[in-house]
Amino acid sequence: MKIGVLALQGAFIEHEKMLKGLGAETMQVRLPGHLNDLDGLIIPGGESTTIGKIAVEYGLIEPLREFAATRPTWGTCAGMIFLAKDIGVDRQPILGLMDIHVNRNAFGRQIDSFETELPIKGLDEPFHAVFIRAPLVTAVEPGVEVLASLGEGRIVAVEQGHLLATAFHPELTGDSRLHAYFLNKVNRA
Ligand code: GLN
Repeated sequence: MKIGVLALQGAFIEHEKMLKGLGAETMQVRLPGHLNDLDGLIIPGGESTTIGKIAVEYGLIEPLREFAATRPTWGTCAGMIFLAKDIGVDRQPILGLMDIHVNRNAFGRQIDSFETELPIKGLDEPFHAVFIRAPLVTAVEPGVEVLASLGEGRIVAVEQGHLLATAFHPELTGDSRLHAYFLNKVNRA
């Protein structure tokens, strides 16, 4: 199995390490040609405005959109923003594929970064979730399954067919269960 990790900015090396630890082959994606023969793709956390800007410069927006339209793709944090079809008033390049409404930097300054034990659908035990200037999903449309929320409708993990998005950073913990979950998804696709 060969999984691409978008490597323009952000926590891509950490994702690669997790994937390799689970026995997957990885590919750093910087140019459209790097998407050839990939079975799945991870869009990492970082700064979505920067990732979007570089993706435009490298001619990656359309190729990424085409890839993620049909093949398993997982966005974490900034990657979630990048996959969403609605991010409110912010004007920045996004792929706009997932039927979710996302609020960037939803936690404000006071608690802009925090960690919590998060129950996630499909996992037996809670996941130690690291939130760093994280987005929140404020609404989902039909066809989107909510996998985790912080309560009061504050949704932080969603799945829509071949697409997966998490507001936190699973690559920054030693817990590879979500990466295994994604690889399973790729395997079934
Ligand atoms: N706040 C960042 C953004 O808007 C996301 C933060 C992250 O990926 N950890 O892109």
